[in-house]
Amino acid sequence: MKDFAVRLIRWHQRHGRHDLPWQNTTDSYRIWLSEVMLQQTQVATVIPYYRRFLERFPQLADLAAAPVDEVMALWSGLGYYARARNLHAAARAVMAQHNGIFPRDPDVIARLPGIGRSTANSIATFCFGAHAPILDGNVKRVLCRAFGIEGFPGSGTVQKRLWALAEELMPKRHAAIYNQAQMDLGAMVCTRSKPRCESCPLDDICVARATGRTAELPQAKPRREIPQRHATLLVLLDGDRVLLETRPPSGIWGGLLSLPELPDGADVQQWSEQRFACRVIAVTCPRSGSPGTQSEPAPTLVHAFSHFRLHITPLLLQVTRGHAAMEPGWQWLDLAEAGNAALPAPIRRILDTLQTSGSKPLLSRKR
Ligand code: SF4
Repeated sequence: MKDFAVRLIRWHQRHGRHDLPWQNTTDSYRIWLSEVMLQQTQVATVIPYYRRFLERFPQLADLAAAPVDEVMALWSGLGYYARARNLHAAARAVMAQHNGIFPRDPDVIARLPGIGRSTANSIATFCFGAHAPILDGNVKRVLCRAFGIEGFPGSGTVQKRLWALAEELMPKRHAAIYNQAQMDLGAMVCTRSKPRCESCPLDDICVARATGRTAELPQAKPRREIPQRHATLLVLLDGDRVLLETRPPSGIWGGLLSLPELPDGADVQQWSEQRFACRVIAVTCPRSGSPGTQSEPAPTLVHAFSHFRLHITPLLLQVTRGHAAMEPGWQWLDLAEAGNAALPAPIRRILDTLQTSGSKPLLSRKR
């Protein structure tokens, strides 16, 4: 398709996005930050996080010098927390290995933590005028539809084919505008559901449109049953203070603060008293607010991760603390302060609900 790039570049001039907060700059730190935040996340969600991040860490060196907890706290609510840990690690790597200067070569950029080939190419194109194709989710969707490419785009063979096609389509000039145009077309016109083909610059040459297959392409990931996991989380309250624990660095919510998790089969009162050197005064079943038994099923909060669903059952424990030494990673925080900590979204929701409903919790919202 000879004029593919020309069509996109022309379309972008009139209809593309030109005023996003990370556009109209070639500052590698700002563009890199936006690229990482935009992975798996929509523009409207990213904008306030991006602004807050830059206010607190105006330069790459500020980010590298910050404690990781502070970075996680600012990222809190944006999800996919490995991105924040990798961002911080990459900032430190740039300081340590590249004298604080962001590398220009896409292959070198791609070796930094959390940056894949497409993100590296995108940064190199927007910041340094490189001539490098991109292949994010939006671009894959446009290419699969426009060229009628079968198969799940995440599979190795289809990816390989898409990269070859992306290389082939890359225009000799205006690489940055072309890459932005592809992203914008995927986000604004060739959307996942209900693409607006009548407004698309490819409408007369698109295979999916011509064959009525826009709903089938790109092909979905072969279905697998989503694993279901269950966790009982303990809201230990001593007056207005709640106990939070730092999660291990790897695994879900790695490095964030969370509520302690009751091991499978453990007696809630006995385990909590031993583990946290406290005396449990009451255990409350969330919906009823009734003390004691857990004889009625407690409501759960369902949180969807990319590869499983977590059913969270919160239990409220009123406790009095002993004088045992605190373990590293434990924090007793005022409920009112806890909202500023680095919390995963479901934990924040539990604590918010607790705060607004006093000690008569809690929640039954599913998502
Ligand atoms: S014509 Fe429709 S399906 Fe084809 S690329 Fe454009 S918006 Fe997507």
